Amino acid sequence: MLYVPRSLGLYNFLDISEVNSLGKSALLVRSYKPGTLEPLQDLSIVPHVEPTPAIPFQVSKLMGQQLLDVILRRHLEKFSCSVEMGTELRSFEQSDEGVTAILAKNGISESFDTKWIIGADGAKKRRACLRDHRVANTNRDHNKMVWMGDFRANMRMVNKFGEGRVFVAGDAAHPTGGQGLDSGVQDADENLRLFRNLGIANKSLLETYSAERLPVISETLEVTTSILDRTITSGDISAGRSHILYMLGIKCRFSTIVLDEFVASAKPIDAYGVLDEGNLEAGDGVPDASNILQVVRVEPDATTLFGLYRPWYHAILVFALSLADAAPILVTPVASPVGLILVDREGYAYSAYLVEVGQTKVFVIRPDGVIGAIVHGVKKIRGLDVY
Ligand SMILES: Cc1cc2nc3c(=O)[nH]c(=O)nc-3n(C[C@H](O)[C@H](O)[C@H](O)COP(=O)(O)OP(=O)(O)OC[C@H]3O[C@@H](n4cnc5c(N)ncnc54)[C@H](O)[C@@H]3O)c2cc1C
Repeated sequence: MLYVPRSLGLYNFLDISEVNSLGKSALLVRSYKPGTLEPLQDLSIVPHVEPTPAIPFQVSKLMGQQLLDVILRRHLEKFSCSVEMGTELRSFEQSDEGVTAILAKNGISESFDTKWIIGADGAKKRRACLRDHRVANTNRDHNKMVWMGDFRANMRMVNKFGEGRVFVAGDAAHPTGGQGLDSGVQDADENLRLFRNLGIANKSLLETYSAERLPVISETLEVTTSILDRTITSGDISAGRSHILYMLGIKCRFSTIVLDEFVASAKPIDAYGVLDEGNLEAGDGVPDASNILQVVRVEPDATTLFGLYRPWYHAILVFALSLADAAPILVTPVASPVGLILVDREGYAYSAYLVEVGQTKVFVIRPDGVIGAIVHGVKKIRGLDVY
């Protein structure tokens, strides 16, 4: 399983560092002359890009899904949460107050009341095979085939990601072929943002999960389907693969809950685009910056912005020449007391966030690592309050 840079950044954001540390570099992929076992070419399917202070995760990694499973379960245990194996969801009913699920374990049925359900039960029961492609795994030393199977590209999506108190994520919502796991992790990350931080207090915000994910998944399907078609027709495994597959250009500038005072007019949706570091807007993935100095050290080890953002709070980043310039912003009702004063020693933050020296600019970083707002501060339309 290949994990693209966007997902590796998310695992880091969620403080699951093992995915990055235990993931292996992507192997070369060997293709064969059609109908034979005669090698055609060995190719890297992921172009190499050096990490930068703004984008530290630029290299895709390989890891079996079984190992990821162990890592994620151990992570859940830190929050006293365990996965109950061998338990099947048979049916459920929802009301305005909650959801009643009927579960079956060891042949015994039980009823379970909960406030919400997120269906992450995969795609297998609704399989519709649109394309078949045979994949093989060869033993590299002896060129012997050790495993072969039919790869069924299964590309569909739901028309909404939730109804009332019930949501779907991962393959249950969109069997997305080669980027299914990556997309599912992003669904989960967005879900986490909504449930932990906003949605339970304001149920209508949960609807933004559908609104933000549908265009992204729809464009992901377009891109991955087109690449699969080109690969199958040309027999070239590298056909059409480019940096776009790193998913770093995924954005939700179109979302009704993002606010950008620096953008004059609405643009086309472009949810699954190429990363454009020269054009940062609300709805984009947040960039990092290294070599940050904390004037008063609150987070002892953090020297990067990514080390300060967390999935359980919004971060408000105020660029200002001095504390006096920032003061009017920091007393707006939404702003928490100032947590940290940072010095951008190398100018990496100014560069990545496209802020000119002397300019006052405020960024709201959502708990899912997306820029929720870019505003002037209090002087214009009190953008922070609006957000
Ligand atoms: C050959 C191959 C290569 C792939 N490579 C990549 C890759 O490189 N990168 C990538 O991003 N994706 C890849 N994918 C896709 C990826 O594997 C899937 O998108 C991903 O596993 C989906 O995860 P999921 O948790 O949504 O669903 P699943 O992995 O299908 O998990 C669903 C789980 O729900 C359980 N379940 C089902 N029904 C119930 C029920 N009623 N009650 C309780 N539990 C239930 C199932 O037992 C299962 O454990 C690949 C897929 C294949 C086949």
